[in-house]
Amino acid sequence: MKSDNLDIDIDSIREEFPILRREAENQPLVYLDNTATSQTPSVVVDAIVDMYECHKANVHRGVHLLSREATDMQEATRRRVAAYINASPEEVIFTRGTTEAINLVAASYGSRFSEGDEVILTVMEHHADIVPWQLLQSRTGIKLRVVDIDERGVLDLEQYRSLFGPRTVMAAFCHVSNVLGTVNPVKKMIALAHEHKVPVLVDGAQASPHLSLDMKDLDCDFYAFSSHKMYGPAGVGVLYGRRELLESMPPYQGGGEMIGHVSFDGTTFADLPFKFEAGTPDFVDIAAFARCIDFIERVGMENIALHEHALLEYATERMAGIPGLRIYGTAPDKSAVISFNVGDIHNYDLGLLLDRLGVAVRTGHHCAQPLMERLGIPGTVRASFAVYNTREEVDVFVAALQKVTSMFS
Ligand code: PLP
Repeated sequence: MKSDNLDIDIDSIREEFPILRREAENQPLVYLDNTATSQTPSVVVDAIVDMYECHKANVHRGVHLLSREATDMQEATRRRVAAYINASPEEVIFTRGTTEAINLVAASYGSRFSEGDEVILTVMEHHADIVPWQLLQSRTGIKLRVVDIDERGVLDLEQYRSLFGPRTVMAAFCHVSNVLGTVNPVKKMIALAHEHKVPVLVDGAQASPHLSLDMKDLDCDFYAFSSHKMYGPAGVGVLYGRRELLESMPPYQGGGEMIGHVSFDGTTFADLPFKFEAGTPDFVDIAAFARCIDFIERVGMENIALHEHALLEYATERMAGIPGLRIYGTAPDKSAVISFNVGDIHNYDLGLLLDRLGVAVRTGHHCAQPLMERLGIPGTVRASFAVYNTREEVDVFVAALQKVTSMFS
C-alpha cells in the first residue's frame, strides 16, 4: 500500500517490524502508543544480536580485538548522530535517555546558579523537564517562571518574551508537546533567549521521531532526545551540548572513563565527550542506535512526517463524529498526537476497554501533571501515530472507540 501519494510503501515498512504481526486480545494489534515508545525494526534488533553474538566487550578499556570493535561501533554511532543533527562528535554525549540528559544539564550547568536566579519553563513540560529544575531549586533557591498556553495549546510567546529579566539564567522547553502535539517555534524562542544572553535547553524527546534536527540552524545550546522514541532500543539517549558550554561545565557523575588521572590528592577529567560519560555506557544499544538513523533516513523524515500528518487528519476527522469527544491540543501543524476525553468517561476505563479490542493507547496524566491541572482534568486518552500505522488501523481504533463509548450512553 502506497501512502497518500508519498514515495513510501507502508506494507513493506510494516514487514520490518515483527511485533506488528502479533495479536493482542485475539485480534491484530493496533499500536497507537508511539509517543510513549515506538516499535523497533528488525535491522536494529539484528544489530543488538550481532553485538552480543560477535563483538561484546567493554568499550574504551581493552587493547584486544573485541574491545576495539565494540569501541569502534559505539564511536561510529556518535559520529553518525553528530552528522545527523549537524553537530560535532565531541558535542554528542550518550545518556540513558532524555530524562538523564536534562538532569545532567540541571545538575552540572545549573551548579553555577544561585538563589534568586530564574529558569523559564512552560506549562506543557513533561516531568522530565520540571523535576530536575525543582531539585536544583531545592539546592540553590532558584525561581521557576512558567509560560502559559492558549485554548489551542499554543504557547504565549508574548509572555515568554516578558519573562526574561536580569536574573534569567536558562530557558528550558519542549520542542513538541507529548500531550498536545504542539510544535513550539523553538528557533524563534532560542533567538529571543539569546538576545538576553540566556542559554536554552530543548527537550526534543517528541521532536526527534518526527522532525529533522539541525543544531546549527537552531543555534541550540542543549538538546535532549531518546532512542526508544525513534524506533530504537531503550536505554540510550543523547545530550547535544554546545562545545564551549560543555567545556565550562563540571562532570555530572564520577567513575571510570571520565577521568584523565586519578590520585587521592586529586583527579583530572577526560576531554569531551567522555567527561560526561562515567561508567560503562549502554554500548550494545548505542551501536544499534546508528541503524535507527539509517532506517529514518532510508524512509525519509519528510515522508514520515507527511504520512503521520495524513493519519492525524484522517483520525481527527473520523473521531469528530463521536458524541461528547473533546480533543486537547488543536495547534496548527501539530504533531501526530491526539489527546482526548469522551464525556465524563474516565480515561482509564476507555483505555482498558480499547485494550480489550486490541487497540493500545496511553491513558493518564502522561507525566505532565501541571498541564493536566492547567486543563482542569485528571488525564486523557492519547492516540499517537508512527510511520507504520495505517488508515485501516485508524478505522479499527475509531470503530472500537464508538463501541466502547456507546456502552456508557
Ligand atoms: N520529554 C518528553 C516531552 C517526553 O515525551 C518524554 C517521554 O515520554 C520525556 C521527556 C522523557 O523521555 P525518557 O523517558 O526517554 O527519558
